[in-house]
Amino acid sequence: MLPDFDLQKFLSQLPWGIPDDADADYMRDCRWMQLALFEAVGAFLDDEVPVGCVIIKDGKVLAKTRNRKEQMNNPTAHAEILAITEAAAKLGSWRLEDCEVYVTLEPCSMCTGALLQARVKRLVYGARDSKAGAAGTLFSLHNDSRLNHKIETKAGCLEDAAVFLLREFFKRKR
Ligand SMILES: [Zn+2]
Repeated sequence: MLPDFDLQKFLSQLPWGIPDDADADYMRDCRWMQLALFEAVGAFLDDEVPVGCVIIKDGKVLAKTRNRKEQMNNPTAHAEILAITEAAAKLGSWRLEDCEVYVTLEPCSMCTGALLQARVKRLVYGARDSKAGAAGTLFSLHNDSRLNHKIETKAGCLEDAAVFLLREFFKRKR
């Protein structure tokens, strides 16, 4: 853990940003995204780039993961890849057709590719990634008409909190 780190204070500072007038669907997305944000906080404490992911099916959590690239010394150990692997193992199938994926940062091209391979139904992400995002920002692999699968995608869910975490992380790294 990083010195001078007060988790309680840090969590209380998080701009969770759930609007007071949010409807039931939006509240539902925020709830799952909060779970993904807790995973991202875990990654932060592990000194990993703070990205968290959860996969939901039938209102239940199938997988809950965080970025572990440094710990695993593995360039593919992004939160989404680990979540897909865990969810597929749990289901006993590589087809995650009725699953929803919540991730705090827009998936990169590798992860969006993996989400397409897994045939996930829906993707919700927090922070947009202008340098690597492949689900609407830099690339739009999630709904490319040349591919045989499209993923219904919603961007910017609790984005402020995800951005805050990433900024704090890189601030401490400097
Ligand atoms: Zn990725």
